[in-house]
Amino acid sequence: MFDLLIRGGQVVGPDHVTRADVAIKGERIAAIAATDGERLSADRTIDASGLFVIPGGIDPHVHFNLDYGPAHSHDYEYGTTAAAAGGTTTVINFAMQFGTETPLDGVRRSLEEAKGKAVTDFGLHVALAGEFTPELIAGLPDLFAAGVPSVKIYMIYGTKPGWVGGDGGLWAVMSAARQHNGMVMVHCENASIVNYLTQEAMRAGKNTPCDVEQTRPYWVEEEAMRRTFFLAEKAGCPLYIVHTSIKEGVALMREAKSRHLPFYIETLSTYLHFTDDRTCEPDGGLFINFPPMRFEEDQAALWKGIADEDVYSVGTDDFAVKFKDRQAIGSTLDSIPVGVAGVELRVAVLLAGVRAGKISMSDLVRVNSVNPAKIFGLYPKKGVIAAGSDADIVLVDPKREKRVLLKDLHSDTDYSIWDGLSFTGYPVMTLVKGKVTVENDKFIGEKGAGRFLPRTVPDPIRHGRI
Ligand SMILES: [Zn+2]
Repeated sequence: MFDLLIRGGQVVGPDHVTRADVAIKGERIAAIAATDGERLSADRTIDASGLFVIPGGIDPHVHFNLDYGPAHSHDYEYGTTAAAAGGTTTVINFAMQFGTETPLDGVRRSLEEAKGKAVTDFGLHVALAGEFTPELIAGLPDLFAAGVPSVKIYMIYGTKPGWVGGDGGLWAVMSAARQHNGMVMVHCENASIVNYLTQEAMRAGKNTPCDVEQTRPYWVEEEAMRRTFFLAEKAGCPLYIVHTSIKEGVALMREAKSRHLPFYIETLSTYLHFTDDRTCEPDGGLFINFPPMRFEEDQAALWKGIADEDVYSVGTDDFAVKFKDRQAIGSTLDSIPVGVAGVELRVAVLLAGVRAGKISMSDLVRVNSVNPAKIFGLYPKKGVIAAGSDADIVLVDPKREKRVLLKDLHSDTDYSIWDGLSFTGYPVMTLVKGKVTVENDKFIGEKGAGRFLPRTVPDPIRHGRI
């Protein structure tokens, strides 16, 4: 006797879709059987006919509990609740390392913030935002050994004196990652050129959100990405490029893949849904992220990259803040508030791509669940519907008409770039570790049920085999 049976749905894996029953006992998937075969029995049976049954989504890039000037992003409770409501059952959050802290200090703080709040399981990366000191680099092996093997460098702030985001810091972190089994994540933009172009634009009297893209054009990202690839190959470390926005990035990845380098690129659901022209509308400032939204040809290349397996994962860079906090950050090109929230809409955006024929359901499952689980050392506990895996499962109705309204979102912000948009195809139920956590958009889960997932970089990932 099982606890729960999901009966008659189309179960999606990275290379197949099969009509099957999924049986759950406790927190795990216990058995999978053909719907027409031997009948499994359980305390509760959920009829999934006409629905897709997919492994819970993994958002590898969120910023919960991030203090950024006067703005504070939503916390683990709101962040993971919004995630679950949209079909994401695992997030990897960025713990911040500031100033002269050790990388582990950031992890300790983040674990404290998650306590009693997280609804879904979560992993951590550390974003290095401090001084480039021998002590900082010496602290990395301890961080990797503590289950946080991925560290992010912001090249975008690389011109700040003494800061780890410069090329020296990047090289030092890459070398440590090679020696101690870590992975380097990089925000690729050439800081010096961006600063110059920004000052030039401001001198010319340009200060609107619509001007942002021209101050950080595609080649600024491309150059930084080429440099990062070059350095990571020299250092011999695994590399994960966050939020790739340009078609040139997909081409670079394709070339790196053909050479079996252990490099992986992520894009964002916002890049898959919006383009730069949106920043020129009256509320355009709300759509600014770094790198900025790009153009239709980039968007098309990113979708194709997912289908061709050159784009490995889709994150959100979720940073949900209150409107007035956002406005308080600044209004000039060199102070413009940055960040988009989207953890709740990530799976819906991917489903829209399936509906439009850009990717298949299996492509969706690959970038939504399988790849991020493999790259970040969570597979097969997470990322797959298989006996023994955690019962993180999402039921999707491909025909469900959903109009997104701010008041219905599970975040705690007072605006949303998704407000008023319509989707056909949307999750109808989310199971987190065997428990129905969201049903028809209503959260019925348990605060604090989410646990920290310690990770390592898997051997195949270090060798470019996913
Ligand atoms: Zn980010």
